[in-house]
Amino acid sequence: MEYKAVRGVEDLIPPESLKFEKVVSTFKEVVERGGFKEVILPIFEEARLFTRSVGEATDIVQKEMYVFEDRGGRVIALRPEGTASAVRAYVERGVYAREPFTKWFYVGPMFRFERPQAGRKRQFFQAGAEVFGLSSPGIDAEVIKLAQDVLRRLKVEATLEVNSIGCKECRPEYRKALLVYLEKKLELLCKDCKERFSRNPLRVLDCKVEGCREVVKGAPKITDYLCRECREHYEKLKEYLKLLKVEFKENPLLVRGLDYYTKTVFEFKSDKLGAQSTVLAGGRYDYLVEELGGPKTPALGFAMGIDRVMLLVEEEREEREGVFVITRGEEAYRKGMEVVNLLREKGLKSEIDHRQGSFKAQMKAADRLLYRFALIIGEEELQNGFFSLKELSTGKQEKIESLKELLARL
Ligand code: ATP
Ligand code: MG
Repeated sequence: MEYKAVRGVEDLIPPESLKFEKVVSTFKEVVERGGFKEVILPIFEEARLFTRSVGEATDIVQKEMYVFEDRGGRVIALRPEGTASAVRAYVERGVYAREPFTKWFYVGPMFRFERPQAGRKRQFFQAGAEVFGLSSPGIDAEVIKLAQDVLRRLKVEATLEVNSIGCKECRPEYRKALLVYLEKKLELLCKDCKERFSRNPLRVLDCKVEGCREVVKGAPKITDYLCRECREHYEKLKEYLKLLKVEFKENPLLVRGLDYYTKTVFEFKSDKLGAQSTVLAGGRYDYLVEELGGPKTPALGFAMGIDRVMLLVEEEREEREGVFVITRGEEAYRKGMEVVNLLREKGLKSEIDHRQGSFKAQMKAADRLLYRFALIIGEEELQNGFFSLKELSTGKQEKIESLKELLARL
């Protein structure tokens, strides 16, 4: 074939696009119930926004970001994630000055240059939610519960893992302890982790290479190093999760692939996706707003991987709906076009078969397209001024005397 979509980029054609819609609309309904409002954010930003927020030493910035120079010489990146843009917009638009707290959600494509495989693409879709201005662990629990509600309503089974990764006060202590431990095991780490060891040792905990995972099992646990405030926040979070009847597993080795997180981090994992097990992930990022030039503002959020969720969602069974108009001859065809137009004006789904083939071929199309009714306008119908309405699931056919009766019948 001469033209192909770029590697790692997939089209969604029906019925996949219907499934996509189902995932997105479920997400929207659930978060809107929680008071979240939609933001439409740009797909590209200045690259330095991500370098600053996601972190210089992360895989995303080091290896995965699509960066290019535009015709005006600006260094641009296709967004690898949504939080950085949300925070940038929140600060740039001065939202903090008008609202004591803010709840936003977004849906859209993200771009990362990764090795494509099932559940890992170079253009993929996320649905995310962000909260600004709230520091209570109660909101952490609520956000996690909403995330769980989304997955539940989609009948996606996933286990929740939570952890706290501390703050500026306590993380340096932990970092020291981790370095001491890792130094002794340096030989066992992969090439990337040897580098992470000096630049960003917490990243080692997130490495997917088997040898590193073995080493990490024996590493000191951050939860043993939390300062009082972080410990209390974490304890309260767990209490509130229980209050909301959210089941969770503590994973003291859970860190996230982005640098901006503080305190609460969490992931929902499915055991049906192989290595690409995380379907939804998030956490608190209390310093990011300030780092991007805003006032000190606590914040948290999550992003759901729509592509991965789609691998776990059953195909939507379409309901039969609407009227497919079948005609023979020019006069019937004209009448049919008028009827279709009228039905659409009345809010009904309707199409006419413009091929005007055999009745059989037209009836087949009506069935394939999952119409509820076929409306037949043939010679007999035209001459005697009536329509035949056939219900496709039962095959039952009835005589309809006028358009008025047709509308009443539908
Ligand atoms: P992973 O560890 O699987 O690479 P991540 O930590 O990089 O994930 P996040 O940046 O937290 O992922 O993004 C949130 C969610 O977005 C992930 O849990 C996943 O479901 C989805 N996601 C991330 N990268 C991809 C991708 N390349 N293709 C499809 N979905 C992705
Ligand atoms: Mg990743």
